[in-house]
Amino acid sequence: MKCFYHQERDAVAVCKNCNKGVCAECASDLGHGIACKGRCESKVQELNELIECNKVLSKQSQEMIAKNKTLCRKSGYTLVGGAAISALVGAVFIWFGWYYNENPFIITLGGIFLLAAVLEYIGGKGIAKHG
Ligand SMILES: [Zn+2]
Ligand SMILES: [Zn+2]
Repeated sequence: MKCFYHQERDAVAVCKNCNKGVCAECASDLGHGIACKGRCESKVQELNELIECNKVLSKQSQEMIAKNKTLCRKSGYTLVGGAAISALVGAVFIWFGWYYNENPFIITLGGIFLLAAVLEYIGGKGIAKHG
């Protein structure tokens, strides 16, 4: 590959921004990449900052996932306890709905709570077992 700006010279590097070959004279070493001197330096700098930012972000999200995993394990036990509360709330709602003119909305709400309680119990038991 020849230098894009000096056809007679061999390129020693490739610009990170425009992917053109540059000779020693045209290359600007920015630490994390080579840029065309006086042309692409700011662009490559931006690119480097973006990459650095992405690295930090992906590291943070990995930590978040790791934290979530431990949280999940803990919540496995809480879910079983939460299921009992949901079942109680559901029962109260259904009783309440029945008491007040058999209100279908409140009864349905109670049913949802009962269903949630069952799901919480099953889910919680599963997570607790795996954890
Ligand atoms: Zn050159
Ligand atoms: Zn360039």
